[in-house]
Amino acid sequence: MANNEKTAGELLQEELLMHPENAGTILSDEELEKAQAFCEDYKKFLDAAKTEREAVDTVLVMAEKAGYVPFDPKGTYKPGDKVYVNNRGKAMLMCTFGTEPLSKGVRIMASHLDNPRLDLKPNPLYEEAQLGYFKTHYYGGLKKYQWGAIPLSLHGVVVKKNGETVKVCIGEDEADPVFCVTDLLPHLAKEQMKRPLQEGLRGEELNVLIGCHPFRDDKASEKVKLNLIRLLNEKYGMVEADFLSADLCVVPAFKARDIGLDRSMIGAYGHDDRVCAYTSLLAELEQKAPSHTTVLALADKEETGSDGNTGLSSHYLQDFIKDLAATQGLTGRAVLAVSTCLSADVNCAYDPTFGDVCERRNTSYLNYGVVITKYTGSGGKYGTSEATAEFMAQIRNLLDEGGVIWQTGELGKVDAGGGGTVAKYIADLNVDVVDVGVPVLSMHAPFEVVSKVDVYMTYRAFSEFIK
Ligand code: MN
Ligand code: MN
Repeated sequence: MANNEKTAGELLQEELLMHPENAGTILSDEELEKAQAFCEDYKKFLDAAKTEREAVDTVLVMAEKAGYVPFDPKGTYKPGDKVYVNNRGKAMLMCTFGTEPLSKGVRIMASHLDNPRLDLKPNPLYEEAQLGYFKTHYYGGLKKYQWGAIPLSLHGVVVKKNGETVKVCIGEDEADPVFCVTDLLPHLAKEQMKRPLQEGLRGEELNVLIGCHPFRDDKASEKVKLNLIRLLNEKYGMVEADFLSADLCVVPAFKARDIGLDRSMIGAYGHDDRVCAYTSLLAELEQKAPSHTTVLALADKEETGSDGNTGLSSHYLQDFIKDLAATQGLTGRAVLAVSTCLSADVNCAYDPTFGDVCERRNTSYLNYGVVITKYTGSGGKYGTSEATAEFMAQIRNLLDEGGVIWQTGELGKVDAGGGGTVAKYIADLNVDVVDVGVPVLSMHAPFEVVSKVDVYMTYRAFSEFIK
């Protein structure tokens, strides 16, 4: 037998067994270039939209350029019409009407725009030992020790008593100052180093250093604080009480950068979940007249459990679909019952340095394409929506037919921990849902890592789902 002929065993292996492959080996040079180009724009999006409010502002500009108009529940719409709903400047719904009637259901893509960060407390400004600080309350599941001694920027809005809104963004422009949370020098950290990692930096130690120069006056007290509020007053016209009606957050000041000698990855703050928001957004923007009506949900508050009126446990998505249904004389429940959804959120990529938290046969890997996750949750599948076998089969078929490189992955091994996504809130609406997303290294860290081909394949998966 010649060397290049396959044995019966090899042939049977090919026919019967799964063959996950690194996308880098199987993609053509042309597709790899497309992935690179796609990610250049993704990096710009990451830099422009570091909070949910900035993301909504950025998306609104893109949507209006693509012909989206505010949704009118009393309007009549034809295939190809594009509408949006802006929920308080913090969450958005977008929709392209399909050629099929709404009685055939809608295709939903849902992701979130909020990221773990440090929020300013309602009364944040103080001075101690002639140093000026902001008090913070961390937002989402972050490892507090990671937020010390890195450059930070300040983002958000201040709304004055008269209703005037002032947008704040300090620390992103190269010419801007930045801020930081200080950490203890190792020389004097003998006691701190004995703390459990969870308390490496404690919640009340996440104080953001913002100045040390006193206002020159012999009589006034707290002169550093006074000088800082004077500067804020000059720049934004605000007084100290205006912090009470503000949404201000502190996030890492660094920009998205290529990682690796081969530039195969992107390091950035907040891939979770702007990577899914961006990829699904691009797929949605490009739709001319899809067969089924598409609904893109860009939610807020996922990182704190989806509660609140801009989170997906609120009624706004359901109400929108009810209103959509009414434009064709249907009930919301009739449309929802035949609708399907890709719940788009990142997953944990296998990290060989911390390999023991994953089960190697059921974890996702960097560069192996978009991840399909049948269920999330934790400890006996609590707190999740599990995709049915039937829906998994549809998605497998769709991705294979579309030439999308994909993999499956659980979030960690059994009883290692776990986590949830918005999938369960959409499943609550009686919709078929499965989790899809991008594998991430260092998830929820100030600098998260994704692979460019995985980002591109996630975009391709959304395009196939709604085309
Ligand atoms: Mn997420
Ligand atoms: Mn998250």
